[in-house]
Amino acid sequence: MITEIELTLTPYQAFSEEHYKPAAARKAGVSPDDISWLRIIRKSIDARSRAIKVNLSLRVYINEPLPPPVKSSFHYQGVHNKPEIIIIGAGPAGLAAALRIIELGARPVIIERGKPVEERSSDILLLEKNQGINPDSNYCFGEGGAGTYSDGKLYTRSKKRGDNSRILELFACHGAPESILYEAHPHIGSDKLPLVIKNIRETILSCGGSVYYNQRVTGFEVTGSQITKVITQDGKSYEARAVILATGHSARDMYELLQRSRIAMESKFFAMGVRVEHPQELIDSIQYHGQKTEYLPAASYNVVEQIDKRGVYSFCMCPGGQIVPSATAPEEVVVNGMSVSMRNSPYANSGLVVQIVEDDLKPFARYGALAGLALQQQLEQQCFRHAGSGQKSPAQRLTDFVNRKTTGSLPASSYLPGMIASDLSSWLPRFINDSLREGCRRIERKLKGYLTKDAVILGVESRTSSPVRIPRNEDTRQHIQIENLFPCGEGSGYAGGIVSSAIDGEASAEKCVEWLANERKA
Ligand SMILES: Cc1cc2nc3c(=O)[nH]c(=O)nc-3n(C[C@H](O)[C@H](O)[C@H](O)COP(=O)(O)OP(=O)(O)OC[C@H]3O[C@@H](n4cnc5c(N)ncnc54)[C@H](O)[C@@H]3O)c2cc1C
Repeated sequence: MITEIELTLTPYQAFSEEHYKPAAARKAGVSPDDISWLRIIRKSIDARSRAIKVNLSLRVYINEPLPPPVKSSFHYQGVHNKPEIIIIGAGPAGLAAALRIIELGARPVIIERGKPVEERSSDILLLEKNQGINPDSNYCFGEGGAGTYSDGKLYTRSKKRGDNSRILELFACHGAPESILYEAHPHIGSDKLPLVIKNIRETILSCGGSVYYNQRVTGFEVTGSQITKVITQDGKSYEARAVILATGHSARDMYELLQRSRIAMESKFFAMGVRVEHPQELIDSIQYHGQKTEYLPAASYNVVEQIDKRGVYSFCMCPGGQIVPSATAPEEVVVNGMSVSMRNSPYANSGLVVQIVEDDLKPFARYGALAGLALQQQLEQQCFRHAGSGQKSPAQRLTDFVNRKTTGSLPASSYLPGMIASDLSSWLPRFINDSLREGCRRIERKLKGYLTKDAVILGVESRTSSPVRIPRNEDTRQHIQIENLFPCGEGSGYAGGIVSSAIDGEASAEKCVEWLANERKA
């Protein structure tokens, strides 16, 4: 017999099967020996009160044979001689699009500016040691995209974009831990993500798809309302019948190429700010009411404030994580966060960002649709100048920033390239400073202890979401001018984060295959 039960347990009881099996047997009304298998369906922590609880939904197999580890609902087939679809960019959107194209019986041809995932790590190491930046291979560019050496949080703020369980299953089928299928806040970690990406690539290649590396797309040949050729930096040209554009929001050169090619884009609102880092112990103590034990994971937080009609909010919180240099060009400094699967570093970091509104972009109006990009780039270059050496980041104690004081010595931080004490409030735009300052005061009212001299802010968290939209038809997902161009993922301005970009990639792949099939019939 198979039955489903709900348990509310202490963190200790919920920690491992050995601990919760007796409670599960009691609830199912059987002896523990009769339980052949327990599968977690959902798991969430409720730390609102001092008596912290873990809610577990379990499927109980009573004297039943073991089920397969993950039920695969994907049907990858050989597509060697099938019609080709070019995908530019091998991030979550491009890879999910490729897998969906295979399921639907077409052949994906991926063109990627960076290196295979295994080879990215040496460039990332150079960045961490502040020994230079490779503009085609870094935290944002290369196989797996920006999602690979990231935190690997697999949840979205928005539920409207689609069903994320299919994407979680896709990752689980390619080597991610099965826990992502039931955790309330699923997370893979940057130590495990590269293997998942490698496995996805192997599926694509074994079915007959192609992946071309070190191929930065630098040109399009446009005939009428179609792209007919995709051209790369070394002069190679790829015949194009249909193109999925999934280059992410850090590929400024792609937006510039679209602008040069007179392919329509729109400016879009986004958010920018700083990354704040606290000792993890402090966040654990705030969130777990001083009761953190080995049976609870590193605590996180999620805060949103509204200040003078602007949102100020935490972004991409990485408990037990590390702040990383995620610029994509020299003489720019950008910070972001990641963590490994164990989330066991002594630091907790998150973006603390401010919504950018129309007025903020007025000084950049001459850049048209790329106004937000220009503001972003200006701040990143200012950060470089204020730290003055490669990927070192300008930094200030959080309390000094809020109280407009100069920081003398900085606390320890996970940011490996190094920090330089800087009075961020003297050069960040006023609309960011004022909102962040007030935001911090209000967050302190909710998270007592957040505003501490032991916390440090680093600049600049500028790549939260795309400042540009590549407009597409809502139903067909075709670009509004170029009928065989399907913009998707974070760079299109219609998605943000790993899961939503992958969902978007799949959905665009479906429309692209449908369009191509109709074209071939016509
Ligand atoms: C350090 C870090 C941590 C993050 N942590 C998380 C997290 O925990 N959870 C989460 O949901 N999101 C996280 N994100 C954001 C997430 O990674 C992105 O939202 C997601 O990767 C977007 O997917 P995408 O496929 O649309 O674009 P991208 O991942 O940006 O992929 C775009 C791909 O296109 C390639 N490319 C770009 N230009 C060209 C060109 N001209 N020619 C050929 N190829 C090109 C790039 O090399 C890249 O591989 C993080 C990002 C960073 C940088």
